[in-house]
Amino acid sequence: MEGLRFKVIGEAFAKKPLDVAMPCERPSEYFGKKVFNREKMYKYLPKAVYEKMIDVMDNGARLDRDIADAVASGMKQWATENGVTHYTHWFQPLTEGTAEKHDSFIEHNGKGGMVEEFTGKLLVQQEPDASSFPSGGIRSTFEARGYSAWDPTSPVFIIDDTLCIPTVFISYSGESLDYKAPLLRALKAVNKAATDVCHYFDPDVKKVVSNLGWEQEYFLVDEGLYAARPDLLLTGRTLMGHDSAKNQQMDDHYFGSIPERVAAYMRDLEIQALELGIPCKTRHNEVAPNQFELAPIFEDTNLAVDHNMLLMSLMKRVARKHGFRVLLHEKPFAGINGSGKHNNWSLSTDTGTLLHAPGRTPEQNLRFAVFIVETLMGVYRHNGLLKASIMSATNAHRLGANEAPPAIISSFLGTQLSELLDHIEKADKDDLFRLDGKQGLKLDIPQIPELLIDNTDRNRTSPFAFTGNRFEFRAVGSEANCASAMIALNSAVAEALTDFKIRVDQKIDSISKNKEFADGRHNPVMHAIIDVLREDIKTCKPIRFDGNGYSDEWVEEAQKRGLDVEKSCPKIFERYLDDSSIQMFESLGVMTKKELEARNEVKWETYTKKVQIEARVLGDLSMNHIIPVATAYQSRLLRDVERMRTVFPTEKADELSARNLKLIEEIAHRTASIETLVDELVEARKIANRLADEHQKAIAYHDNVTPYLDAIRRQIDKLELIVDDALWPLPKYRELLFIR
Ligand code: ADP
Ligand code: MG
Repeated sequence: MEGLRFKVIGEAFAKKPLDVAMPCERPSEYFGKKVFNREKMYKYLPKAVYEKMIDVMDNGARLDRDIADAVASGMKQWATENGVTHYTHWFQPLTEGTAEKHDSFIEHNGKGGMVEEFTGKLLVQQEPDASSFPSGGIRSTFEARGYSAWDPTSPVFIIDDTLCIPTVFISYSGESLDYKAPLLRALKAVNKAATDVCHYFDPDVKKVVSNLGWEQEYFLVDEGLYAARPDLLLTGRTLMGHDSAKNQQMDDHYFGSIPERVAAYMRDLEIQALELGIPCKTRHNEVAPNQFELAPIFEDTNLAVDHNMLLMSLMKRVARKHGFRVLLHEKPFAGINGSGKHNNWSLSTDTGTLLHAPGRTPEQNLRFAVFIVETLMGVYRHNGLLKASIMSATNAHRLGANEAPPAIISSFLGTQLSELLDHIEKADKDDLFRLDGKQGLKLDIPQIPELLIDNTDRNRTSPFAFTGNRFEFRAVGSEANCASAMIALNSAVAEALTDFKIRVDQKIDSISKNKEFADGRHNPVMHAIIDVLREDIKTCKPIRFDGNGYSDEWVEEAQKRGLDVEKSCPKIFERYLDDSSIQMFESLGVMTKKELEARNEVKWETYTKKVQIEARVLGDLSMNHIIPVATAYQSRLLRDVERMRTVFPTEKADELSARNLKLIEEIAHRTASIETLVDELVEARKIANRLADEHQKAIAYHDNVTPYLDAIRRQIDKLELIVDDALWPLPKYRELLFIR
């Protein structure tokens, strides 16, 4: 009796790669083909309108109504020329994906006919009935409507026959109900704070941009095998499955050659992503079998976030065409690497980067040190919050396992940068200011050789590592909306820089009165900066950690340093409601306390639901897949034992059946144990469900329900090893993980 499993394996292994037609043009020519970018604006908008739009996009100028009408009209012309019939306000609700509601351009023309219409009003604002999106209780059902408003800094794009308009999503009372609104506010805050600090060094700096380059990791699984795994289908991860005898121990997948079927998929995906203006650059195999990565060139954070959301949905669509399913879950398979989404983050001015080491002048080196240290200050002060920003029911499975960063936020700087900071902190002040003829005292901050920074000190497990010209926030999960981490990080840095400036200004005031500064030979600004910087280097030292993040000693040490070492996902979310977090978000205008509270309700509820679904699926699979199959095999063994007794004397027969008898017993124990555990699991869920408070319920699910998932799995995985392979109903790891 060979069932579904062998059929789907046979089909999966027989599949051939799809033939992907390569465009005749070069990538540089079809890049952005489906985006209403500057080039299209220039072509489709009147000159004055085009110039206004550029001002809106580059300098945050107001978007006037008459401009909006003209922009909409140009957009519509471009869109209809490209076969577009519908438009949608595309937004990022507090779920994992994006949301859209499609309307056609068609309107009555007042003469009994129809006309294609698209006005500035429709472009700029919409009122989707959004009562089914999570709001954490902000939007009660009687005021179910929210509105979506165009974000002109992210360009409009075409998917199939639909013009997609990136928007923010806000409730009628003004609270944000999405990721984009607070992200834009955080980016504004960091721009302001960083520009102010830049002015100490260069009064001409006009703005500071936050950059994000994400690296998207993912797994591919054949769709037939996927469909035969209800756990993958319903929860995104395997809730059971014994290790494959061979998995990643040979390190032969990483940077190995890409299987043909996968290469065809990647090619197709990249062509479509490039057309949508996503600057895909890198693709390679990852460490685990069937695991891959795609990374574009970094962009301004808002656009990069949109592009990541867009890419994730594109990945899913294209995968289906190629007979695959994409797994974006952070830990689809136990025992091998999970998937992350490194967020490479930096700040740059309109004149250059801020986190790039070797400046031409000592002042530039000092500015570099200031931005590094104030970033560390933000990360140090809000390390618990940053962990909350990347935490989810799914990412919780990945952190701290197989190469992924541990669930403690710390920063790895590498030797050169550490030495520079140590030097600034400990040097005698006279060593930092050198006497220089005419100019009086001159700053003496040593440079860091560029090559060394780029190539040394790769600490793969650090959650927040400096990598030469950027920090790499590696704790972010593969499935996450990067906005969550970017809101927290940019806000934390904005607060640190704001605070830095206040203290430097106070210091300038006080030291300017000193005699030695009166003659103008000393620069009070540089002195004040050095003083405050030295303080901060000391203060944020606990966040710096270059050692092994996996060791037990680190947990102990981190606790001593006052870092957040909490591991429970629902408890980690509490950090959003700490006074220090509320104070930071409110003072920067990023989120209000009410918004934060509402968002936490959503986080806790989402956590509970995810565990609840996993618990149900595992309970069902245990009872109607695993136990029946194990019992069937057990019956066969029992029959064999009985038959043996009909041929041989009992004693001899039992001796010959020793192995079978042992297996029968083991199966009996394990199935009984699964039954008991499933009963207890159901009971634990019932008790948790009675809790009305979402916070308490999530904690109960974490503490009392999730342990059963592991306990049941352990029994099933043992059964998988002993039950006849021909009977086992679910595709095994060794089949799921090796695409032919
Ligand atoms: P890795 O060695 O970590 O795999 P990659 O070369 O794949 O690094 O690049 C990772 C990402 O970092 C890319 O998206 C790249 O564009 C981005 N990146 C490079 N420089 C910066 C920077 N200054 N700020 C932000 N992102 C950057
Ligand atoms: Mg990286």
